[in-house]
Amino acid sequence: MEADLGELRAQLRGQLIGPQDEGYEAARQVYNGMIQRRPRAIAQVADVADILACVKFSRENGIAAAVRCGGHNAAGLGVCDDGLVIDLSRMRGVRVDPAARTARVEGGCRWGDVDHATHAFGLAVPAGIISTTGVAGLTLGGGLGYLSRKHGLTIDNLLEADVILADGSFVKATANENADLYWAIRGGGGNFGIVTSFLFRAHPVKMVTAGPTFWGLDEAEGVLQRYAEFIAEAPEDANGFFAFTKVPPVPIFPKELHERTVCGVVWCATAPPERAEAMLKPVRGFGKPLFDHVGPMPFPALQSLFDPLLPPGMQWYWKADFVKTIPQEAVKLNVKHGSAIPTLLSTMHLYPINGAAQRVGASETAWAYRDATWAQVICGIDSDPANNDRITRWARDYWEDLHPYSAGAAYVNFMMEEGQDRIQATYGENYPRLAAIKSKYDPENFFRVNQNIRPYAQTAGR
Ligand SMILES: Cc1cc2nc3c(=O)[nH]c(=O)nc-3n(C[C@H](O)[C@H](O)[C@H](O)COP(=O)(O)OP(=O)(O)OC[C@H]3O[C@@H](n4cnc5c(N)ncnc54)[C@H](O)[C@@H]3O)c2cc1C
Repeated sequence: MEADLGELRAQLRGQLIGPQDEGYEAARQVYNGMIQRRPRAIAQVADVADILACVKFSRENGIAAAVRCGGHNAAGLGVCDDGLVIDLSRMRGVRVDPAARTARVEGGCRWGDVDHATHAFGLAVPAGIISTTGVAGLTLGGGLGYLSRKHGLTIDNLLEADVILADGSFVKATANENADLYWAIRGGGGNFGIVTSFLFRAHPVKMVTAGPTFWGLDEAEGVLQRYAEFIAEAPEDANGFFAFTKVPPVPIFPKELHERTVCGVVWCATAPPERAEAMLKPVRGFGKPLFDHVGPMPFPALQSLFDPLLPPGMQWYWKADFVKTIPQEAVKLNVKHGSAIPTLLSTMHLYPINGAAQRVGASETAWAYRDATWAQVICGIDSDPANNDRITRWARDYWEDLHPYSAGAAYVNFMMEEGQDRIQATYGENYPRLAAIKSKYDPENFFRVNQNIRPYAQTAGR
């Protein structure tokens, strides 16, 4: 096997790192420290030619391939045991066309790379809420964040992708070229090939009115209710995700609030500042906020606001579901579990996905839950593996109580490895079409280290 790896190494402009090489321990780590896998080798590719060589090598040698961009996937699907990791994280070029309002983004970029490049032209591509997340994983799963209500999901702004298929061919996916593939990669994850380059539509977003408002738990029921009513009807310029959290012990927050469990909303309004202030008032003006720090800031500053609190390597356990409405009993259960956050960084978020994201039909892209109002995620997080049981139990208990009030499935990018039934539920009526496209583009299921959509032959045999 070593000889084979040597052959691959000779073909790459990037680096091939095996277990004997210095740097292997660091190279195999993904963002979630709970995931510890030992691949046969990690190819830190430099370009498309390197990826083509890796795909050919894996296929011909019958070695599983994992594809990695930002490495943020909660289930650790950017790494695998005993396979080849095709790591694109050195391919981070971004080219903005300010006249066309587009950004061409290499397949290994993080969102911070894109924000940095587009902001210089007063533009932004709708993404998530953390700048270190990979563009590829987030986009291929859907992509939701501060601009979803105004400009749609990330996939709603994907115009084109260059894709390397399992047979080693290199194709373009657009509305007119390989349209079935273009449909499938907008939500269907990394199941269909390796995207080496994305072309996104960008929007004129430079400054936003943003920041957190926190309330004490005694007001949590009222705040969640008011927030839920607000988001259901709010203008699309207004966004804000609801959270249960502990106040981080950092200087921006008053000392007396440090480590106190609170509920809150992190706002992002794209309207001009005076209109934004008025727009958010119905919720910000509710009760007696403990802390309200909302004001104008550059969009990339908001995107990287939480980065320092969430360094790579911590233990993460996620549970998630889509939510359409939050009835009174669900409000009470959210407050019960949200009040019992087990560790400093554990949290629950409700991300709005109505507005522009709902103007796309459920079968127009692979992303099926266009009628959900929120994607809910419960994250048990801690730096100490000794607390893994605690954070996992809390997330599971929370989810089990709330699941009956959910839409019945979760956003694929917020899931751990939860089995085929959960994956099929996520895609709902789109699943058979996805399986047919998988059968066409990847009949042998070469790309299987992901939330796996099985080609028909394999579905029948399971
Ligand atoms: C701190 C944090 C914050 C987050 N916030 C948000 C958020 O606000 N909004 C949101 O929508 N999601 C969010 N997520 C979830 C995120 O979208 C997923 O974790 C996503 O999988 C991360 O993408 P990645 O490229 O970093 O992951 P990776 O682990 O590198 O890859 C994830 C999956 O994508 C596939 N893949 C990676 N690169 C490619 C490629 N070039 N071509 C084809 N397939 C590829 C991999 O095979 C794997 O299956 C967050 C995650 C974290 C940890």
